[in-house]
Amino acid sequence: MTYTGSMLMVVAPSGAGKSSLVNALLKQDKDIGLSVSFTTRSPRPGEVNGREYNFLSEAEFLERKAAGDFLEWAKVHGNYYGTSKSWIESQMKNGRDVILEIDWQGARQVQAIIPEAIWIFILPPSIQTLEDRLRHRAQDDEATIQKRVAAAREELTHVAEANYLVINDDFDTALAELNHVVLASRLRKNSQLARHQKLAQELGASNKQK
Ligand code: GDP
Ligand code: ADP
Ligand code: 5GP
Repeated sequence: MTYTGSMLMVVAPSGAGKSSLVNALLKQDKDIGLSVSFTTRSPRPGEVNGREYNFLSEAEFLERKAAGDFLEWAKVHGNYYGTSKSWIESQMKNGRDVILEIDWQGARQVQAIIPEAIWIFILPPSIQTLEDRLRHRAQDDEATIQKRVAAAREELTHVAEANYLVINDDFDTALAELNHVVLASRLRKNSQLARHQKLAQELGASNKQK
């Protein structure tokens, strides 16, 4: 079946501004639902179970994984992360747009299953800025920051697999660019024809090539 909604995957190294951009986008655009991942990482100060993540133990994660509950899963910075398959399915069935904040391993898995999924890579303006932002965020200790900066270099080698690149230098510019990608995704021919079936029929606008 053709889903009318868009599936957007936002990938970025830690500190690039992925969560800030996605949260700002969700505030402006009420038609997008955020996929709340499951993770074995400990909550950061201020993080609420069920809002940023569904936090669970490694044993619980592995149980869910074995039960096939995850659309994709990956080990990132030593912790497990996974996307709920049932939540994504229910949203997509209802024609809702969904956004996933996942790492490149997860994005690759999703694109193999759902080729229409759109992969947006958020780039920092420089490695130094990335490191500065992780420090300013003040939510990780120095060892974790160093681990994440090293991991960023690895993550950035996967840019080739993405569909869109947004450079997060000026925040508002990056947010506007992200908005444009979302709008363009909604105008894709297959989505539009599935969304406007009656009009397409009336106009004889078929999806079959002559
Ligand atoms: P942040 O990158 O500093 O925001 O730290 P997070 O702990 O929020 O995310 C750690 C990594 O896990 C990032 O690369 C995320 O994109 C990735 N991640 C989060 N949720 C998922 C998920 O459900 N599946 C996969 N595959 N990766 C995820
Ligand atoms: P991620 O989710 O990719 O790890 P965050 O959204 O947590 O990144 O952003 C990391 C830090 O950088 C946060 O403190 C955030 O406020 C800040 N930040 C994000 N985008 C910008 C930007 N364009 N300019 C300056 N600071 C930014
Ligand atoms: P953090 O622990 O800093 O919140 O996230 C670290 C990394 O894990 C980020 O790159 C984030 O995108 C990724 N991540 C978070 N949730 C998921 C998920 O459900 N699946 C995958 N594959 N990666 C995730």
